[in-house]
Amino acid sequence: MLSNECQGTPYAGGERQGKRGHSTFLPYAQQGLARLKYYRFISSGDSVDTWVYFQIHPVVQRMTLRDRYRGIACPKCGKFDEYAALGLGVDADVCVRTRRDFVRTAEESICVSIHFREVFEKERIQGIEFVPLSDGKFFVVRPTVIAPVDPATSGIKYIGEPCPVCGRYRESIYPPRLASMTKPEDPMVVFSPSLRTERRCQWAEIFMTEIVAEKLRKHNVRGIHWTASAKVM
Ligand SMILES: [Zn+2]
Repeated sequence: MLSNECQGTPYAGGERQGKRGHSTFLPYAQQGLARLKYYRFISSGDSVDTWVYFQIHPVVQRMTLRDRYRGIACPKCGKFDEYAALGLGVDADVCVRTRRDFVRTAEESICVSIHFREVFEKERIQGIEFVPLSDGKFFVVRPTVIAPVDPATSGIKYIGEPCPVCGRYRESIYPPRLASMTKPEDPMVVFSPSLRTERRCQWAEIFMTEIVAEKLRKHNVRGIHWTASAKVM
């Protein structure tokens, strides 16, 4: 069993239905999700030189996992559940310098501004937690709604053999296909697939419906490449 399957709580289909008072929810639920268009959050600019999970070790001068996350790292390959790690908080020296509201870090985690968070709150968009950085102005995104991915149709290609202890692969190519995911029924919920691109870390990945995309554009959220984000397959 892949450790990926332990990341977060798999979305229980239908659980949220009827709990929201959002006006756009009911018609879409009745139509079914097949009509909805989805977006994959793609950054409009370069990654920021921010490392959330790793740091240059002051003595050995090479990139090492921060002490905070050592307890959850696999003893064999060193990989760890990135979303669980964010539940342990973020070191005080982690910072982001950008004018954008949405950026990717060097490890392909996602950081967002206070404006981004305010839009989510105001529009009652759900599916992520905001783990604050010490400056209080930026947050690391921690997805809380994990959409199960069917490995057979995901399109992900793993390289080499999985770790015998944790089941993670060292590397993968191709992101998971949208069609392989069991998506939340509530269109105001953003979600992260249970299988993601594997490198040093698994890439944080979020999908949103066109309804959420429309809200973010309305509030002029900067840093999302809307054309690339719309080309979701
Ligand atoms: Zn391992």
